[in-house]
Amino acid sequence: MTARTVFLFGTWTLQPDQEPDAEPLTYAMECAVCGAASEPSEDASVAQSWTFKHAGRNPAHHTYRELITRPWRAWMR
Ligand SMILES: [Zn+2]
Repeated sequence: MTARTVFLFGTWTLQPDQEPDAEPLTYAMECAVCGAASEPSEDASVAQSWTFKHAGRNPAHHTYRELITRPWRAWMR
């Protein structure tokens, strides 16, 4: 008897993960001057509030980066 395994290679598909068990899409803000960043939050306004607090404490820090973490999933068919 010979055991054989056949591998079928299909096409990979990639798309944003919108399954119920997907990781959440999160927002954070990072100061482009000093690199400090807010905690990731599912609510973009939380990150924006952090920016106002950071700018209040650091009046010379005027530029920021929005960090969006979006879950994706890949599968082969
Ligand atoms: Zn800063």
